[in-house]
Amino acid sequence: WAAAPPTLRDIFLGGRRHGDKTFLVFEEDRASYEAFARATLMLAQDLIRGGVRPGDRVAIAMRNLPEWPVALFATLLTGAIAAPLNAWWTGPELEYALNDCGAAVAIVDQERHARLAERRAACPALTRVLLARAEAPGAESLDAIIGPVAAWAGLPDAPVPDVAPAPDDVATLFYTSGTTGRPKGAIGTHRNGACGVMAHPYSQARACVRRGEPVPVPDPDAPQKASLVAIPFFHVTGCFATLIPALWRGTRLVLMRRWDVARAMALIARERCTTAGGVPTIAWQLLEERAAATHDLSSLEVVTYGGAPAPAELVRRLRAAFPHAQPSTGWGMTETSGTFTHHQAEDYINRPDSCGPPLPVCEARIVGPEGHDLAPGEVGELHVKGPNVVAGYWNRPDETAFRDGWLATGDLARMDQEGFITIVDRARDMLIRGGENIYCCEVETALHEHPAVVDAAVVAIPHPTLGEEPGAVVALARGQDASEEELRGFVAARLAAFKVPVRILFHDEILPRNANGKILKSELRKLF
Ligand code: ATP
Ligand code: MG
Repeated sequence: WAAAPPTLRDIFLGGRRHGDKTFLVFEEDRASYEAFARATLMLAQDLIRGGVRPGDRVAIAMRNLPEWPVALFATLLTGAIAAPLNAWWTGPELEYALNDCGAAVAIVDQERHARLAERRAACPALTRVLLARAEAPGAESLDAIIGPVAAWAGLPDAPVPDVAPAPDDVATLFYTSGTTGRPKGAIGTHRNGACGVMAHPYSQARACVRRGEPVPVPDPDAPQKASLVAIPFFHVTGCFATLIPALWRGTRLVLMRRWDVARAMALIARERCTTAGGVPTIAWQLLEERAAATHDLSSLEVVTYGGAPAPAELVRRLRAAFPHAQPSTGWGMTETSGTFTHHQAEDYINRPDSCGPPLPVCEARIVGPEGHDLAPGEVGELHVKGPNVVAGYWNRPDETAFRDGWLATGDLARMDQEGFITIVDRARDMLIRGGENIYCCEVETALHEHPAVVDAAVVAIPHPTLGEEPGAVVALARGQDASEEELRGFVAARLAAFKVPVRILFHDEILPRNANGKILKSELRKLF
């Protein structure tokens, strides 16, 4: 990681070398790298004039607008801490996070502003709200400071603030998804966040070494890469695995206000995107839509996803539908600043159940109930360590997940002899039927192998004597049919009888998920 820029400020300054190349594309807006830098510096100077000081918190609550990265880097350039908030949150959820981080400033879009309108009084630390692309009482206009995207290139070249954060200074508070409880603010340093720019080149280099091939050297004259951004910037994958590496490398980012698979296909074709993906659901939807679509998607070089279980069947189908694109996946958490394991190309095709080995210089252990390391192949809790792992949670100093530099992830996994990790389940998702462990993921994977199934989730149904039994909720592909009996038989042919869902419910569309692509299992449990 010595090759990684030490701070996010260095990455911003480095991005300026891409000059007139296009950085951000959003609907009719296009901003070059230089235009983006000018808008960012204008806003940074304005934040400083408004009283923002190093260590203050600035909340960002917007959809993926071009103003989002401007708000992020303007905040970081002042030495303040950026707290990206989930754009899906309701008013009370936004209020919780604003008070949790004690934000002095919030940079918001119209919808978030409306949700916050009645909550302002309950956020005493909040002194300034900047509203993008709209005007409203109680908010200052962000446009008045940086203007519309089309005017960014003509902004004066404001000076870079004279605040140079150290690599171990706090840069970001990204909130966890709140799958297992209230979202927690992960305290990310500049170094934690900057690591992401090396993740891909390092793991690619290692894969070449393993195969005995030469490590490719980046060609500065190669045509610009373009990435379709289908995941929110307020999630670590959107920020640290997408936005920040793109800024460092000079990739064009094609933004979408919200995910829409038909629109995504049109954008891939129009912008000749080389990378697309996000979470596994997005990849499934691309596959579903691919059959009917007439768009030219031949520009795709990589289809990438992570953040939620990706059944082996997904990679097999992607290979068939997008033979020219490499599948790529990984495992990570908010607390690992995005990617922690990475898996691509032949390695992934040969080990489709795995999410890959930890990135170089990251370490992983599989830990048993007594805290001892387990042998290869045994299932235990995944513990991780590395330069991208945060030191703790904001306002929760006694959190026990962090011990001696290791983070206990709450995920159950196994590791093979070569260090490839397979996520088995979340410890909390596993169910126990009469003393037998059932990993929901395993049953979901079996259901996914059925050609009619496009989405599946397994949850515990309470049982008076057995404790719990597996139940499944399934969505079928358009125009396909399968009965509950047929699916139960299909799973029974693959897994031990006690793992076969005792009931299977059918859902008309893709299962409900949160903004980070995780199935809302608490909602599904209610269906039983
Ligand atoms: P909270 O911690 O608030 O309960 P969360 O854990 O869902 O929410 P995130 O940090 O967004 O919040 O998600 C990290 C989790 O996502 C991991 O702990 C893991 O359970 C899941 N995950 C990430 N990548 C994968 C993957 N490739 N396969 C399976 N699960 C994954
Ligand atoms: Mg978590």
